[in-house]
This record gives sequence, C-alpha cells and structure tokens, in this order.
Amino acid sequence: MNDILIRNGRVIDPANGLDEVTDVAITAGKIVRVGPCRAAAKQIIDADGQIVAPGLIDLHVHCREPGHEEEETIASAAGAAVAGGFTTVLAMPNTHPPADDERAINYVLQRAGEADLARVLPVGCITKDRAGKELAEMGMMAAAGAVAFSDDGDGVASSLVMQRALQYAGNLGIPLMQHCQDPELMAGVMNSGPVAVRLGLGGIAASGEQIMLRRDLELVARTQGAYHVQHISTSGSANLLRAAKADGLAVSGEVTCHHLLLTDAACAGYDSKYKVSPPLRTASDVEALRRAVADGTIDCLATDHAPHSKEEKELEFGLAPFGIIALDCALGLFIKALVETGLCDWPTLIERMTAGPARVIGRPLGTLATGALADVTIIDPAANWTVDTNTFVSLSRNCPYHGWKLTGRATTTIVGGKVKYRLVDK
Ligand SMILES: [Zn+2]
Ligand SMILES: [Zn+2]
Repeated sequence: MNDILIRNGRVIDPANGLDEVTDVAITAGKIVRVGPCRAAAKQIIDADGQIVAPGLIDLHVHCREPGHEEEETIASAAGAAVAGGFTTVLAMPNTHPPADDERAINYVLQRAGEADLARVLPVGCITKDRAGKELAEMGMMAAAGAVAFSDDGDGVASSLVMQRALQYAGNLGIPLMQHCQDPELMAGVMNSGPVAVRLGLGGIAASGEQIMLRRDLELVARTQGAYHVQHISTSGSANLLRAAKADGLAVSGEVTCHHLLLTDAACAGYDSKYKVSPPLRTASDVEALRRAVADGTIDCLATDHAPHSKEEKELEFGLAPFGIIALDCALGLFIKALVETGLCDWPTLIERMTAGPARVIGRPLGTLATGALADVTIIDPAANWTVDTNTFVSLSRNCPYHGWKLTGRATTTIVGGKVKYRLVDK
C-alpha cells in the first residue's frame, strides 16, 4: 500500500518536461509513480484544481542561529519554509560565530534534523571568520555536508583570494556563491539616484555590484570553478550573466522577490522595512530582471530571507540593518511578479524554484522522477489571500508585504514523504 496518493492534480515536473493532470504516489519517502494510480493508500490528498510540483528550493536564507535566536532559529526558519511551500532551504553562514568550519556545518545539520521540517542545507564561509583574507577549511566543510560556499553579507574583495577560492571549490565540485558588492563602493544605504538625492541618503551605485561580478567572471573563465551570483539587482548584472552564459562559463544566478517587485521609490517614507542589500533599484531594473528570469539568464528565485528584530529595524533608515523576510509568502510574490504579468508560464516559474536551484547545488532534488526523494509542494493557483505577518512562522516581522493581496499559495508541503504543512482554511 502506498503511504500517500495525490490525486488528480496538474503535475508540473520541469526536470522531466511533464505537465499533465494525473496522480502521484509516495511510498517509504520516495516517489514511486507519476501517472494514473488506483492502488490503495494510507492517505489520499485530493489535488483537483491544484498544481503538484517538486518541493520548492530556496538557495538563500538567513537562519540567524547561532547568535541571534531571538530573530530566527534553524527550526523557525524551517517552519516558515514549509508554510511557504519550500522543502529545502540553504542556510547562509553569516551567523555569530560564522559557519567557517566543520563543527559549524555539523551544528546546522543537527539542528535541522531535530526540527524535522524543511531540509536545511548548510553553506560554509569562503574565508575564515568572513574576513576575506584566508580561505576557510572548505574540504572539511564539504565533507561534513556544506553544499556551497559564500561570505554573504559581504563580497570577497581580494581578487587573489577569490581566484584561490574558485580553484579550491572547483576541485571539490562545490559552487561558490558571491554577494557582489565592491566594499569600497558601499558607502550608502539605498540605491544611488534621484530618490536618494531627494531623501538626502547616501547612494549605493549599480556599478559596485557589476564591477565585482565582472571581475569574478574573468576569474571563473581562468579557474573553471562553478560560480553563482546571489541576489542580482541591476539590469547590467543580468546582461553580464547572459553574456557569460553565452561564452559557456559555468555560472548561475538568483534574484529575490523584492528585486522583482519593489523599487527605490519605496524608500521615500524613510521606512527601514525597504532597506535591503543590495538595495531596491529602479523600475527599468525590475523589468530587466523579470525578463532575465523568463529567458533563463537567471536560473533561480530566492528570498534572501533576512530576519531582524523590531528594535533594530525601528532605528532610523541610515542606522537600521539591511534585510527583508519573505519565506512565508514568497511563492505568491513570485507568482505576482512573473505569472500574473504574463512573462512566465507555470512550468517556467516552477523550474526556477525547483530544478534550477537543484542544478546549482548539484543535489538530487527538485524532481518528481520515480525513485526521487518525495519532496512535493501542492499549490492552489486560484487561492486569494492577504499577507498577514501576524500569522508568520518566522520569528521576525521585517516584511514590507503585510496587507498585500496575493493569488496562489502552497496548500500542502511534503518533505521526504511526510506531510510537514497543510493550509487550514480560516
Ligand atoms: Zn547578500
Ligand atoms: Zn543574504
């Protein structure tokens, strides 16, 4: 007998080019059949009118543990993830202390195992203590289970260190993820432009991102390392990535929901909820980024879920920390930016949230192939709902989408063949 039978859903599995109304059977934590199935099951889920997709993957999440457990923990982030339809998230290493050794990687895996919700895969630092000087112990971290390396929060400024990192990570077969921002061009708090001038706030120029990305792409061409650019925010960066892919480089990129939906005009009220790094850019950047997702230049959709306490975010704009949370509501935001605008169809959206990110980390996830891990997200594409941050599983509330009306949300999240979340009608 099957453990779970999901009946009559629109099964979209981009990894296998599948989009048809059929059944999905799960037994012993694995997908055992995609196709008409009349066999008995312990649990039957009626997915009539809903989309059945591989579990969504978010390559960019800040869990804040260890160090700031009042803002988020590995367990609360994993809970927010499944509530948002995500079955796998990558935990960024800019914790306190930073995750730059084997012990820290083991700690993330242990806490994630205890929470037993979404899979939380650890990312290790590129450099020791994220100081940008000396390479962290990548081999030990990879052996312990790190799936990528990043100094996120900061870019690696030294070209020599970055070159060595690409060589070393390339030998390990693990991607480097870069927060592209030249630190010497990071004096401001929002996008450089007329809005910043009017508000009297220091600007962060698009070139600060593009200069580091341009340099990194030169290094990737020389080292053959696998490289992933995090949270692309400018049209120029999208163009650089497009050209690098055309040249055959092993590069990939991600964009966040806020960079697909918000512009620097949102900062006009000095509301620090809109303070994020890289900053919100212009309407033409938003348009270019959406198109880059549609044409496949940008492989992955990510949240850069960055929890902060109310006290910290209540500081004035210039002093408040950078960051927005979105795990609980991201799927509806991506639908709004990409499907409702007619730029992406459902298979394309789901590809960028499943097979795309799985390919970046080279893990056997993001597919409903027979024998694959039974990570499944069931989505009601017609569900109308209003974002209410009071209902978030995340411990933080620095979310600018409170009150937004969205269409489409996850109704069931299955991880390893176990239902970890079901939307209860209120
Ligand atoms: Zn970052
Ligand atoms: Zn980040």
